[in-house]
Amino acid sequence: MNFLFESPLFQDAFETLTSAATTMNLDPNILERLKYPKRALTVSVPVRLDDGTIKTFLGFRVQHNMTIGPGKGGIRFHPKCDLSETAALAMLMTFKCALVGIPYGGAKGGVQVDPNELSRQELQALTRRYATEINMIVGPNIDIPAPDIGTDGQTMAWFMDTYSQLKGYTVQSVVTGKPVSIGGSLGRAESTGKGVVFCIQFAAEKLGMKLGSNTTVAIHGFGKVGQPAADDLVALGAKVVAVSDVTGGIYNAKGLNIKSVNEWVQKNKFLKGYPEAESISNEQLFALDVDVLVPAAIDGVITKDNAHTVKARIIAEGANGPLTKEAIQIVTKKGAFLIPDILCNAGGVIVSYFEWVQGLQSFFWDLEEVNKRLYRILRQSFDKVCAVQEQYRCDMKQAAFITAVKRLETAMKLRGLFPS
Ligand code: NAD
Repeated sequence: MNFLFESPLFQDAFETLTSAATTMNLDPNILERLKYPKRALTVSVPVRLDDGTIKTFLGFRVQHNMTIGPGKGGIRFHPKCDLSETAALAMLMTFKCALVGIPYGGAKGGVQVDPNELSRQELQALTRRYATEINMIVGPNIDIPAPDIGTDGQTMAWFMDTYSQLKGYTVQSVVTGKPVSIGGSLGRAESTGKGVVFCIQFAAEKLGMKLGSNTTVAIHGFGKVGQPAADDLVALGAKVVAVSDVTGGIYNAKGLNIKSVNEWVQKNKFLKGYPEAESISNEQLFALDVDVLVPAAIDGVITKDNAHTVKARIIAEGANGPLTKEAIQIVTKKGAFLIPDILCNAGGVIVSYFEWVQGLQSFFWDLEEVNKRLYRILRQSFDKVCAVQEQYRCDMKQAAFITAVKRLETAMKLRGLFPS
């Protein structure tokens, strides 16, 4: 299984799992089963481009562990997407769902493509062919995809429609993160960012910090996670002084006008050129003297090489794996409070779960109900991780893994190994 270790993200997830296993004295037979994905599918996705030529892209779907329920995990369209990274993300999904106590296993999918280089028609063709290629291992009771980097509600709508065409009837609950008009949940689009901000509030409370006009925040990645997180932080009165995307960052010491930044991005797609701020690099953003840093773009951006430049008191991992294992050790030693990814960005999968439940029952909740339930689950999960951290005197990342693995261990022992 050497191919699994090709990405730093898999290596890190694997090492965090094995060190958490040592700390918690995990049954070695359980560890052995959690180290590797249950199933991994690689597909080719041929697409007719607008110029009439055909181009083939590589696609993946990985299911890591399905002891607690069907697989759950996003679909990523990104040029660096590969089997090893997808396996790592599937593993993180197993632990995320177990940590927050929702009845899912972990899965992830993706296509190695830059969606910014395809037209809308080409993207639709890519999504529909990818959905067809993996349809035999997904379904409302098997594995339920959702949006991730480079995909959105429209992608989910095409995926759901394709799956439904293959079945011959509408199957809404095959994906979550759908637009509300076709069975999506109120609050799903903002849920990951909202969950990040709930966790920042819990962390601030724990540290005796008051979130208000004196609180400064920098957000790396201004997409489906970073952008709603910025909105909620501003609503709490905090000053978001910097945000960034693939084109670089923007900075305003007085606090950015997030409403106007949102309008700019809606019109121009990227932050580049936004007039009411100074341009900064992504590296400069990490090193800003802010109270809260939210890395919400992509994995492996804060490493042993730049972790020492980070000054934030609270680091909220909005993205999956934005800090490497070594970086976590460095920032933790410096006294930063890290909110680990599988807790911090779990809001998305929690409201995906709500969407799935609502869809299966054809009974939809109001926004207040969705957010109330989201808050309750994250509060309990945050407190549980802090209690485990105090019990084992480990870092917060390990504490989150231990909390998740304990739940999995109980479930895996009850179900046993087939054949026995
Ligand atoms: P997205 O595609 O909507 O946005 C990603 C943002 O990051 C964009 O602004 C993009 O320009 C920027 N970006 C990408 N690469 C970058 C780089 N190298 N440097 C700087 N900026 C870069 O994706 P998203 O859904 O917001 O996901 C972001 C992260 O959050 C991913 O790690 C994803 O796995 C994780 N996540 C997403 C969800 C969700 O519900 N969307 C849930 C849990 C975790």
